[in-house]
Amino acid sequence: MTEPLLVVDNLKVYYYTLTGIVKAVDGVSFSVPGSELAAVVGESGSGKTTLGYSILGLIPPPGRRVSGRILIDNVDITSLHGEALRRARGELVSMVFQNPFTTLDPVRRVGDQVVEVMTEHGVPKDEAWRRAEEIFTKLGLPPRLLKAYPHQLSGGQRQRVAIAAAVALNPKLVVADEPTTALDVIVQEQIMELLDSLRRQGMTIMLITHDIALAATWATKVIVMYAGTLVEYGSVEEVVGEPLHPYTRGLINATPSVDRKDRPKSIPGLPPDLRRPPPGCRFHPRCPYAMDKCRKEPPTLIEASPGHYVSCHLYTEGRR
Ligand code: SF4
Repeated sequence: MTEPLLVVDNLKVYYYTLTGIVKAVDGVSFSVPGSELAAVVGESGSGKTTLGYSILGLIPPPGRRVSGRILIDNVDITSLHGEALRRARGELVSMVFQNPFTTLDPVRRVGDQVVEVMTEHGVPKDEAWRRAEEIFTKLGLPPRLLKAYPHQLSGGQRQRVAIAAAVALNPKLVVADEPTTALDVIVQEQIMELLDSLRRQGMTIMLITHDIALAATWATKVIVMYAGTLVEYGSVEEVVGEPLHPYTRGLINATPSVDRKDRPKSIPGLPPDLRRPPPGCRFHPRCPYAMDKCRKEPPTLIEASPGHYVSCHLYTEGRR
C-alpha cells in the first residue's frame, strides 16, 4: 500500500465572527497517497477553500484551527511556526490561486517574480534564473517570456507563470484553488493537462473546484464536502461512477452535459448557515432519503468498500 503524502486528521477550522462561530471545516479526516490528483468538490460554503488554505497554514482572520493535524510527507504542518512554516510553504507545499489576473504583481517582470520565490529560499540568483528558464520550458512557456510583464501575457500564460512560481522549489504538494475558473474552456483544458503532467512526474495535486465534471475528467481521487464535513471520498471511478452519498448523486445530477438530453436537476434548498448547522446529518433538510435518525444523530464516516468512504446513515442501517 502506498504511504499517504497528505494526512488530514480530525481538522476543525472555525471563524469567530461578531454574529457567531462559523464551523467552516468541522472534523474532517482523509489521506491522499503521493502522485494523485485529488479534487475537493462541493457547493460554495462547503468548506473546501478553507480546507485548502488550512493545508498551507493560511487561514485568514477571524479564522482559527481549533483542533486536528495536517501531515505532509510526515511533517506536521500545524506544528510549524515562523521561519519553519515559511520554508515549508514553497519547499513542501505551495498554492496556485484562482485568478491569474490578480495573482501576479503587475509592475514587475514575471521572471523576477518566479526567481524571487527561489532566492527567498536561499537559491543563488544565477542558479534561480537558470532554473526559471528550465521550468518555463517544461511548462510550455518560451523562456523569453521571463522578461515580460503580466499585462503582456494571455490569461493562460499568466496561470502557467503562477504554476511555475508554485512549483519552483519542487514541493511535494500543490494546492490549486479553482485554477481554471477565470479561463475559457480551451485554456482550462491546457492548464489541467499541465497539472496532470506534474502529477505524472510525481507531484501530488489537490484541486479545489465546484465543478464535479472537471473532477471527473482529471482527478484520480475525489473528496466531496458538504457544510464543513466530508461526506464521500474515494477513487474517481467510485465516487463519480458509483456515488453512494445522496449529496454526491445530487451534485452529479445538477451538472450540465453537452451530450445529455435531459436537463440538469438542481438539489432543492440551500446549504445551511454554518453558524447554526442543522442537528444530525447536515444534509437532512435537503435529502430525499432522510430518516428520523438523520435528524438526530450525525453519521460517521465508514469504509463502504476498500478505499471508498461515505458518511450516511443509509450505509449503517443497511438501506443502501
Ligand atoms: Fe440523507 Fe440521512 Fe444519509 Fe444524511 S444520513 S445523506 S439525511 S440518508
